[in-house]
Amino acid sequence: MIAHIIAVGSELLTPFRQDTNSLEITRRLMDLGIKVGSKTVVPDNDEEIARAIKSLMGRGQLIIITGGLGPTADDRTREGISKALKKNLIFDEEIHQWIKERFKQITKRQPPDNLARMAFVPEGAEVLYNTVGAAPGFWIEVPEKDLRLLVLPGPPAEWKPMFEAVRERLEALGKKNLERRVLRIAGLREAEVEDRISPFITGVKNPSVTILASPEDVQLHIVATSREPEEARRLVEEMVGKFKEVLGENIYSFEDEPLEKVVGDLLRQKGKTLAVAESCTGGLLSHRITNIPGSSDYFLLGAVTYSNQAKIKVLGVSEENIREFGAVSEPVAKEMAIGVRKLAGADFGIGITGIAGPGGGTPEKPVGLVYIGLSWEGGVEVQRKRFSGTRLQIKTYSTSHALDMLRRRLI
Ligand code: ATP
Ligand code: MG
Repeated sequence: MIAHIIAVGSELLTPFRQDTNSLEITRRLMDLGIKVGSKTVVPDNDEEIARAIKSLMGRGQLIIITGGLGPTADDRTREGISKALKKNLIFDEEIHQWIKERFKQITKRQPPDNLARMAFVPEGAEVLYNTVGAAPGFWIEVPEKDLRLLVLPGPPAEWKPMFEAVRERLEALGKKNLERRVLRIAGLREAEVEDRISPFITGVKNPSVTILASPEDVQLHIVATSREPEEARRLVEEMVGKFKEVLGENIYSFEDEPLEKVVGDLLRQKGKTLAVAESCTGGLLSHRITNIPGSSDYFLLGAVTYSNQAKIKVLGVSEENIREFGAVSEPVAKEMAIGVRKLAGADFGIGITGIAGPGGGTPEKPVGLVYIGLSWEGGVEVQRKRFSGTRLQIKTYSTSHALDMLRRRLI
């Protein structure tokens, strides 16, 4: 079963707005065992919309269209559909009343005339009422072409409930059972992961395995399909078992959880607390840790000690070390980790100091050089890392590595 997505909106063809609807719709279709054959972005223009629809006929059984259903003259999706399918737009008095009532209730004002545009329905279409906004969506069947169109408004809050309302019929179209697992990996680069798992995945189509790398981690997306749900699950489990053997503790989550969540759970389980001192990451580590609800259970303090003075005054880093080795150095990362742990009275302390770039590098201390210290009761460890990429990527790599050092200490 193949589906195609058309995102309508002139703003989506500028650098200022992104078509994120297609991504979210693709994710939901994957869960239903429906593969996306293509994605198209078209401007708010009847002809372009109609052309996009026509060019997809005969290439799949489902077209999903988002956007351009609003009341203003530049919302042209209805007209585009009407042209492509040669179906008239029929005025529906019931929808019109419903929209006007809704407007009056919310605004306490008289509804403007242009709301009527949203009451036009392509002939034969099933109306999908909007539970959040005004614009209705449509389900349109074109039996002679074995085609269905699901037409949704642009705002995510509005189309998501509509999508859920037709989920069962989409599921019936997908038919095949699909099992999906995402493994998350830290401490290995993409090429290393690929090298270790390649014996199990070369030439294997079911389950399909995709490697996705980002500065946060490396992910393995495993998808198996089968007529039997049990069989799909078994195929995935078998593959996960093989990956476990070659990747071991580098896999930090079998359930697609972020590293900060996994580390947070470990801290809570063991009743331990954490404090962090950040220089080049500028608070990103604290941000990631506190993105997890309930992080106050274990996170005590995050200090952005950007200047040498702050490192000395707040964390008790020694002036001599900074003078002799520089702020980006092993002894300073160590003292930052120890200092912040003491300051907060925490079980673990992390200190990060490095050069995020793009400027400021030297031959001895290049951009991307980062020292990460971890201190705990009875010990301290510092790792020297060299990351590459943009400023934000280097900051992200650094925070992931720091979290992973703590994770390995906790397991
Ligand atoms: P309305 O005009 O009534 O809000 P509509 O169906 O006409 O609904 P659009 O005007 O196309 O929808 O888009 C409204 C808003 O929805 C946009 O400003 C944008 O925030 C969001 N939106 C539209 N299309 C997309 C998309 N493809 N990806 C992400 N957001 C989108
Ligand atoms: Mg629009």
